[in-house]
Amino acid sequence: MKTMEEYLDSLRKLKLEVYLLGKKVTDIWDHPFIRPSTMAVAKTYELAHESKYKNLMVSKSHITGKEINRFTHIHQCVGDLILKSKMNRLLGRETGCCFQRCVGFDALNAISIVTYNIDNKYRTNYYERFLKYLAYVQELDLVCDGAMTDPKGDRSLPPHRQADPDLYLHVVKVREDGIVVRGAKLHQTGAVNSHEIIVMPTMNMREEDKDYAICFALPSDTKGIIYIVGRQASDTRRMEEGLMDRGNIHYSGIECLVIFDDVFVPWERVFMFREYDFAFQLVEKFSAYHRQSYACKVGVGDVLIGATALAAEYNGVAGASHIKEKLVEMNHLNETLYCGAISCAALGFKEPSGTFMVDTLLANVHKHNITRFPYEIARLAQDVAGGLLVTMPSEMDLRSKETGPLVEKYLKAKADVPTEHRLRILRLIENLTLGSAAVGYLAESMHGAGSPQAQRIMIQRTVDMEEKKVAAKKLCGIM
Ligand code: SF4
Ligand code: FE
Repeated sequence: MKTMEEYLDSLRKLKLEVYLLGKKVTDIWDHPFIRPSTMAVAKTYELAHESKYKNLMVSKSHITGKEINRFTHIHQCVGDLILKSKMNRLLGRETGCCFQRCVGFDALNAISIVTYNIDNKYRTNYYERFLKYLAYVQELDLVCDGAMTDPKGDRSLPPHRQADPDLYLHVVKVREDGIVVRGAKLHQTGAVNSHEIIVMPTMNMREEDKDYAICFALPSDTKGIIYIVGRQASDTRRMEEGLMDRGNIHYSGIECLVIFDDVFVPWERVFMFREYDFAFQLVEKFSAYHRQSYACKVGVGDVLIGATALAAEYNGVAGASHIKEKLVEMNHLNETLYCGAISCAALGFKEPSGTFMVDTLLANVHKHNITRFPYEIARLAQDVAGGLLVTMPSEMDLRSKETGPLVEKYLKAKADVPTEHRLRILRLIENLTLGSAAVGYLAESMHGAGSPQAQRIMIQRTVDMEEKKVAAKKLCGIM
């Protein structure tokens, strides 16, 4: 397993083509805008070397028997699935943002199931190829970006009927040694901090769309892959002098638009090629795993609840009954989310490949709750924090000779609490509910791993309505 330093060094060997705020970036992982997101991923390496977290962060490879970082593991039992939910909560609490490494983890597990199933039907050898690839990822302890969402163009049209055929990623050329692909993937969490990028189809495909039914993995710095970093609220505070106004002074998430400009993929890295009848299965497995991964938001919720309790204490209102009540409500919502992440894991089952899969219905219910409860938790945090959250002066005013003493004096609350502490905790709440971490805690909770409607469709498909009707009929004597 790589140490945190080895991970950071390994990134420097990559030659990524990255654009940020209209300019090409060369000092990618030292750039103040990107660095906090790199450090959030680095946390997944750091904690794997801490003995108290070993049980959560480290696993044994089912192919080599060696110790590996859990983020490269294929779930071998229900216990593995539960440890994954616990690990994600831990990392959410440690980073207070999106630590980005779950997408690739979930892609690896989903592909382990689907390649096996494709081989069973078509006598292909995708599973064997995949296992070789997995051994490589585990050996070098790599970060994989899982790329699913295509731009999609006109939503009413299938891929092959789009005015621009590149609005879904597709094969443009088949060669003896591999394929050439073109298109883009949106919302790519952690792409610039990844060694590998794993591309999957974005939805169900029909025969006419078979050129879009492809799955493959490439080194992230393969020629023709271009990264355009997305903006987040208050992101340029990372480029200001001083750290305090960032709220979270250590970490952040990051998202990119990733473009594949006629990129070559050798056959040994192709895991699905035109088997369009398996595109939906891959989407379904990946999204169920990734919906479970949203245990991360429970950990971020822990940070927000802690910050809210501190804001109340610093203001001298911690004893007020309505404040206590609001904190209970926040915890109730947060732990309810945790129930979902644990229960979809606890009801996991073995797929034909041997990989353990989460309960699809409960994973979708869990993620659906994630699209709602963090908003209520954030609302309560802002309620308790008070209006100063959005009106207080900057760190520069606090440090200035002219205004510093005035800010110190008039923004003081409890006598034994330094004004700076009060401002810091409010900045953290601002970051989590309005700033760049609100992308991760709120908007990403809404749309990450699929928007609410995607979960409602899966709930409708997965729930056994007939069983419920029979239960009702039996009790009232209809049969
Ligand atoms: Fe992982 Fe959560 Fe970030 Fe998704 S939002 S990549 S589940 S930390
Ligand atoms: Fe996500």
